[in-house]
Amino acid sequence: MAMMWKPELETLSREELERRQLKLFRKQMHHVMEESPFYRRKFAGIHPSDIKTVDDVRNVPFTTKQELLDSQQEYPIYGDFPCIRPHQATRVFQTSGTTGTPLRISWTKKDWFETFYDQFSYFLYGYGVSPADVAFFPFMYGLFVAWWGMQATMELHGVTIVPGGGQTSENRLRSIIDWGATVVCGTPTYIIFLGELAEKIGIDLPGSKVRIVITAGEPGAQVPSTKQLIERLWGAKNYDDIGSTEISNFGFECVAQQGTHLIESMFLPESLDLETGKQVGQGEIGELVLTNLCCESMPLLRYKTKDLVRFNYDACECGRTFLRMEGGVLGRADDMFHFGGVNIYPSAIENFIRGVPEFASEYQLVVPPQGSGEKLLIKVEPATTDISEDRMHEAVSRFVKDVNYNVKITPRVEIVESGSLTRFEGKARRIIRL
Ligand SMILES: [Zn+2]
Repeated sequence: MAMMWKPELETLSREELERRQLKLFRKQMHHVMEESPFYRRKFAGIHPSDIKTVDDVRNVPFTTKQELLDSQQEYPIYGDFPCIRPHQATRVFQTSGTTGTPLRISWTKKDWFETFYDQFSYFLYGYGVSPADVAFFPFMYGLFVAWWGMQATMELHGVTIVPGGGQTSENRLRSIIDWGATVVCGTPTYIIFLGELAEKIGIDLPGSKVRIVITAGEPGAQVPSTKQLIERLWGAKNYDDIGSTEISNFGFECVAQQGTHLIESMFLPESLDLETGKQVGQGEIGELVLTNLCCESMPLLRYKTKDLVRFNYDACECGRTFLRMEGGVLGRADDMFHFGGVNIYPSAIENFIRGVPEFASEYQLVVPPQGSGEKLLIKVEPATTDISEDRMHEAVSRFVKDVNYNVKITPRVEIVESGSLTRFEGKARRIIRL
């Protein structure tokens, strides 16, 4: 059996898990209705004691990011959804605001040092990180929450931390070698960028001490060809980490690498059909709706994450009964697009791009307007400059056939100049809608 943070909870039967989730859900509902004007308004007419079964949970209204943003606009600076007064906060963050106004978040000392610690401890035990590890964080700390909590938790477990902010990528690579880092964290895009840079400047990452690469912020670790690429470039295991600024940290991959476990002892997860809003069955794709069962500062109840997931309730090889999200986060509900009569998930296309040795890892999807009759355009760069025209032509036609067979559309591929596509240090934005 693999190492677990809380084996007594991580191996509960489905019935026991649901009982626990319902009990905590009622408690959390009571808490937010006592402390937050936002939830008192939202939940008027229902009472925590009405929630007796998982089906009853579906009668509780959703919470959306837009509502949180509206609340902050109306009641600056934190809005009226938090359950704490501003002076109780020990940490504040804000969302990256890539799709609009940033959302401000505040956590109490308890949430920061106990709730986050608990969440990330599940992760670290899942990955097999130990106090003997040396973790390198190639990250510039600011208002964005990423890696702050992971680092704090590692410190509390006695892992050695090497702060990697304020350096060029090349110097970060040198630091990773010089300090003997065994664990490195980053977005898949940046981790691939570092791996390719290392090859270019002659730094031998596969020969280094790095044994674990933790990636977050994008689906990468669970896109098979991206995981393979990361593991090849780094000569290390690549594990997925899923969370968001507002709902905190809920998904980790275990050493069995067969999907991303959801911390069901701390969250109540639902996966709902995008159109009907009904719970979808095992193996089907739905939008992840989460209730944060343990947070005290600003618990979100039935929060629509807009993340697309596929639940698998079968027990994992590692012994955990926590459900797994197969393929991690498959994409964003916002990113999924209808094209040529099918739903397209960009991560599915990414998987094929990264499976072609003649293509570099960066890409861009250009989606023409509906009904224009134009094909979906995929821009890629050559992996190296010495690939012959014939070989590239053959690679493109193989790729188009693969996409056509698996995704049911025929894209147009444009090979662009090496290095001309934008590289991202944080979350990548690769879809362009015309
Ligand atoms: Zn597992």
